[in-house]
Amino acid sequence: MIGLALLGSTGSIGVNTLDVAARHPDRFEVVALTANRDVDGLKTQCERWRPRYAVMADEDCAAALDTALRPICPEVTVLGGASGLEEVARAPETDYVMAAIVGAAGLLPTLAAARAGKRVLLANKEALVMAGTLFMEAVRANGAELLPIDSEHNAIFQCLPTQCLPISSRGGLDHLGVRRILLTASGGPFRTRPLSALRHVSPDEACAHPNWVMGRKISVDSATLMNKGLEIVEACWLFDTGPDRVVVVLHPQSIVHSLVEYTDGSVLAELGNPDMRTPIAHALAWPERIASGVAPLDLFTVARLDFEPPDVTRFPCLRLAREALAAGGTATAVLNASNEVAVAAFLDRQLSFLDIPAVVEDTLARVPNHAGSSLEAVLTADAAARIAATSAVRARPL
Ligand code: NAD
Ligand code: MG
Repeated sequence: MIGLALLGSTGSIGVNTLDVAARHPDRFEVVALTANRDVDGLKTQCERWRPRYAVMADEDCAAALDTALRPICPEVTVLGGASGLEEVARAPETDYVMAAIVGAAGLLPTLAAARAGKRVLLANKEALVMAGTLFMEAVRANGAELLPIDSEHNAIFQCLPTQCLPISSRGGLDHLGVRRILLTASGGPFRTRPLSALRHVSPDEACAHPNWVMGRKISVDSATLMNKGLEIVEACWLFDTGPDRVVVVLHPQSIVHSLVEYTDGSVLAELGNPDMRTPIAHALAWPERIASGVAPLDLFTVARLDFEPPDVTRFPCLRLAREALAAGGTATAVLNASNEVAVAAFLDRQLSFLDIPAVVEDTLARVPNHAGSSLEAVLTADAAARIAATSAVRARPL
C-alpha cells in the first residue's frame, strides 16, 4: 500500500485526489488529511478515510477538530499549525505527498516533503514560483520524485522522453531535442471582453471559469492570466529552461493541455477532457496508468480546436511574470506575494479587477530585489511584498 498525505485535502485538488484514491482502495492508503480552518469539512473526510493524522493549520481549529473527533475517530492523531503540516509531509508512513495547499502557505510543508525524499505531486505552483532554486535543489539532493499536477506541466511531462525531473539530470531540453514548450491557456472568463468592461467585474464573474472548476484564488488568477504567468515560472523550474523557450498559446476549449515542439518539427500534445483527475491519476500511478473516473474524450463532440496569441495589453500579468523571471533573485517571490494580497483584496471587494496587476507592478517596483535564494531571503521578500502590496491596495480604494 502507498501512504498518501494530502496537504489541502478539503480544496478542489484535494477532493479530486480523494476521488481518484477511492477508485483504488487496494493501492492507496490515506495517511494524512489537512486543511486550514474548515473543521466540519476535515471532520467529514476523517470519518470516511480514518487517516492516522489530521492537521489543521489554524491551532484553534485543530483543538475544535480534536474535540469533534474524539468520540467518533479516537485513532486519528490531530495536529495543529505549520509544524503539524511539515510533520505529516515527512512522516515515515507517508510515501506520496499531494501538495495542494493554495499559496505561499504551502511552501514549507512541500519543501519538507522534498527534503524527506518523498514523491511530491506538485499542485501548489506558488511554492515553486517563490523558491524555485531552493525547491529544485531539495528535490535533487534528497532524491525526491517530483511530478507536476498542474494540467499544462503534467501534459508537458507526458510529452517529454524523460524519466525524471528536473530535466538537468538528463542533460537539459537541448539534449532531448526540444525546441520550445507551448503552454496552453483557456484565456479565462474575460478572454473576449474589452478592457473598458473589465473595471467593474465582480468576484463571482471572475471565478466563473468556462472550462475548469477550481478554488477561488486560482480562478481569479486564470481571469487575470497571472495563473499563466506563474505557470511560465513553474515551467522554467520544472523543465530547466529559460522563459524565451516557453510560449503561451490561448486555446479556449482547454482540450489540448500543452505541447512540446522538437527540433525535427514534431509537436507532441496531450489531449483530454478538462478534469484534474487525469493529471492526478497520472502522477499517482506513474509510470503506470490507472482509471481516473474522467469521461473519454469525444473528438466529434469537441469538433474544433482554436488557437490564438494572448493579448498582453488587456492582461499585463503575463508581462509582469516575465519581467520578474528576468530580474531573478527574489523578484518572483515578490510577484507571488503581491498577487496573493491583490487577489484576496479583490475577492473581499476592496480592489477592482484591473487594479490587481497595478498592485503587483507597484510592489515589484518598490520592494528591493535580493540575489540570494536562501529560505530566509525568500521569506523576507515575501513579508516585505505583503506589506508593500497592502499599502498599494489602500492607495486604490474601490
Ligand atoms: P482551494 O482553495 O480549493 O483549496 C486550498 C486548500 O488549501 C484547502 O484544503 C485549504 O484548507 C488549504 N489551505 C488554504 N490556506 C491554507 C493555509 N494558510 N495553511 C494550510 N492550508 C491552507 O484551492 P485549489 O483550487 O485546490 O488549489 C490548490 C493549489 O493547486 C493551488 O496552488 C493552485 O494553484 C493549484 N492548482 C489547482 C488547480 C485546480 O483545478 N483547482 C489546477 C492546477 C493547479
Ligand atoms: Mg494550470
